[in-house]
Amino acid sequence: MAGDVHTILCGVCKVPLQGPSDGKDDNVFSCPSCGASDTRKEVLRIVTEHVEEVTARAFQEGFRKALRGNKFVKATGKPVPKRFHKYISDFNPKI
Ligand SMILES: [Zn+2]
Repeated sequence: MAGDVHTILCGVCKVPLQGPSDGKDDNVFSCPSCGASDTRKEVLRIVTEHVEEVTARAFQEGFRKALRGNKFVKATGKPVPKRFHKYISDFNPKI
């Protein structure tokens, strides 16, 4: 997709979605493997949810690592749950 930094993948097949690259919200993108398809707008909405989840988890894991071995402060809180996303990106934050 033109202008998008990260590849958008089908959440089931992990293959890049195919679709027009002119950036219109009602362009339909689809998975060449399983045929799942949605408008660009919907695909981006789902991918954004995935990116937020990945970012939250990376931040939490970094925080836990930073506190490992610290007797006085313990990392608390539940791990960020893994949810299924119909579409994902290859976004992988390093914190
Ligand atoms: Zn698929």
